[in-house]
Amino acid sequence: MKTTKKQIVVRAYTPIAKPLNASIQKNSTMLLLGEIPYTNGGKTFNTKVYYIKGLRGMLRHAAMKLAYDCGIEVCHTSEKTELKDGTKLMPVGFHTLGSCDPPCILQRIFGSFRKESRISVSADPITSISHKDYTTDVAVQKVHIASENRIAMSFERIPIQDFRESYFSGYFTFSIDVTQLTKEEIKFLIESLLYIETLGGGKNAGYGQVKLLDFDLQNIEVEKKIEREDGVYKFSEDIKAEPVVLDGIEDWRETIVSVDT
Ligand SMILES: [Zn+2]
Repeated sequence: MKTTKKQIVVRAYTPIAKPLNASIQKNSTMLLLGEIPYTNGGKTFNTKVYYIKGLRGMLRHAAMKLAYDCGIEVCHTSEKTELKDGTKLMPVGFHTLGSCDPPCILQRIFGSFRKESRISVSADPITSISHKDYTTDVAVQKVHIASENRIAMSFERIPIQDFRESYFSGYFTFSIDVTQLTKEEIKFLIESLLYIETLGGGKNAGYGQVKLLDFDLQNIEVEKKIEREDGVYKFSEDIKAEPVVLDGIEDWRETIVSVDT
């Protein structure tokens, strides 16, 4: 069986990011997916793997900023325009989520509560492996993962609360499946990568800075096969990636214009 798709593969670095996935009482930890075995020098070890949450939100935010900069009104992340006390929620340059018809560029790409997104953002789980060389059966990204025990102090420097937070540090890669997007929408999404700044929580304290290093736009062809080996049927996958070159990233401006609500 053969399938094809188009994807943007982005390589990034963070000195310290706290995806803040799961909170258990006083502890904010990253979302644990489980343990997987890996081998080093003929020995088998176990390592915990974690999910990087917030990549899609990071991308959506960046796309909102690009649209705003270009004076294109797009969906905000909220369906509400104001709180009960009258506090306005909708900044100038945005409309409520999903209220645009025809849909704006943000809704066309990221969807809304009623409309499905036409992209998917994914990343191999991250793990901390102390060995330099290792092999695993599943794809993981090796980073540094640590937890810190912190103590909140009162103004008089009296400890009032202790809590635990996890973070990761290192290089990581994420992919955006853009198979369903038009060339112009892909260009818009690529230019919005320039607006990515932070991932996860604690940005006022300097956490979550993300530096993008490079990206690749690829046509992917996956061929799945069933083969018989040593008396057992096995599934195998043959993946071919072919780079796609795009001219004039900023050309999307000529076709994508503001949609009034
Ligand atoms: Zn919209």
